Amino acid sequence: MEDEKPLLQYITCDAERCTKSNPAHRCSRCKITYYCSPTCQKADWKRHKLGCPPLDEARKLHANSTNVNELGLNEGITFLKEGNHESLGPCGICLEETIDDPVIFDKCKHAFCCTCLDRFQKATTLLDPEDKGSRCPYCRAEIPNLIQSTHAKVCVIVARVNRGNLSDEERKELASKALADIQMLWDTGDPGLKVNLTHTRATLLSYCGDHKAALKALKEVIPAFTEMAERGAMAMELLEKCKREDHDFIEEATKLNLIEPGSGLLKTDLVGLYFEIAKVQQKLEDWGAAWETLQYICEHFQLGSEITTHQQMEIFLSLQQCANQMKAYMHSIQFGEAIMDQNRFNPTVHKATAIAYRELGNIEEARKLAAGAILYEAPWDDENKKKNWEFWREIT
Ligand SMILES: [Zn+2]
Ligand SMILES: [Zn+2]
Ligand SMILES: [Zn+2]
Ligand SMILES: [Zn+2]
Repeated sequence: MEDEKPLLQYITCDAERCTKSNPAHRCSRCKITYYCSPTCQKADWKRHKLGCPPLDEARKLHANSTNVNELGLNEGITFLKEGNHESLGPCGICLEETIDDPVIFDKCKHAFCCTCLDRFQKATTLLDPEDKGSRCPYCRAEIPNLIQSTHAKVCVIVARVNRGNLSDEERKELASKALADIQMLWDTGDPGLKVNLTHTRATLLSYCGDHKAALKALKEVIPAFTEMAERGAMAMELLEKCKREDHDFIEEATKLNLIEPGSGLLKTDLVGLYFEIAKVQQKLEDWGAAWETLQYICEHFQLGSEITTHQQMEIFLSLQQCANQMKAYMHSIQFGEAIMDQNRFNPTVHKATAIAYRELGNIEEARKLAAGAILYEAPWDDENKKKNWEFWREIT
């Protein structure tokens, strides 16, 4: 463990309105917040406790995301893949004797067409986001959400793959495992479901190393996503109206053809799609194209209602990376400072901004930010701490 004390002179106290440098008191709970004095720490606690993750819990969360196989998120659902099964019928939703691509709940043994169940769960989610269609439509027994649970599992795998401390082999293995999970839903042929899955599927293709295939898959769904987001916005409006006027939403929405698979898409999902495209373009090292895609998002979507704060941060982060690659260092610094205004604890941004300052010859600012990159790094992330120390020595 290297001595971080000499670095403290480069950062300031984290208490609101205190700008003293060399804050030698560190929050013992999260270990990434620094104060000039116990007085400042005490004064700031009321505000800070809301965003102070206890170190142990944060570390556990970090470690848990690796145990993908033990999550068993798809337990409770059996997929029968070989076509139609008359013996299982009728489907509890459409009442057809022959069930298409049956999904069976292990708990109550009721069977449904995969498409029927997907529609049912989407419609109930739209009505009550908390519910997520978590009861068997036939007997009300508790059931896992089909899409939700598969997606959740895939998301965990993607998060794990994304962390970057894996060998290429391990990454590919995890990604292809998740791709197989997606394929199971893909094979049902539901068009709305397919559009939804394209997104994640492309991400995984990218992790398997085929960035070009990923980019193609993502660009292909832009028109469908755009249309679905329009319909999603209409459905939300209708839902509000039905609540106000006490009308039956399902009935009204069915009349307008709004409860179709995949219609519950939001503008933020569309932003997510464009952002995904930019990320793949970055992986292909086509920085100019990525920059254009990101600028397109900023120009065509409304911050707040259509771009979430979290998305904006991610977009700025990517814009900064592109700017550095394109040697547009002034832009890089602008984006870096905009992000740090929102969140001063982001080590990646500190480092990227430090690089820009160094390239512009401002070593003093570069050093200050490089120190921040070390001090604000997650305390358990030894790998990154080490990298940031190397960067620090490179600069000084
Ligand atoms: Zn804290
Ligand atoms: Zn202070
Ligand atoms: Zn059915
Ligand atoms: Zn049932």
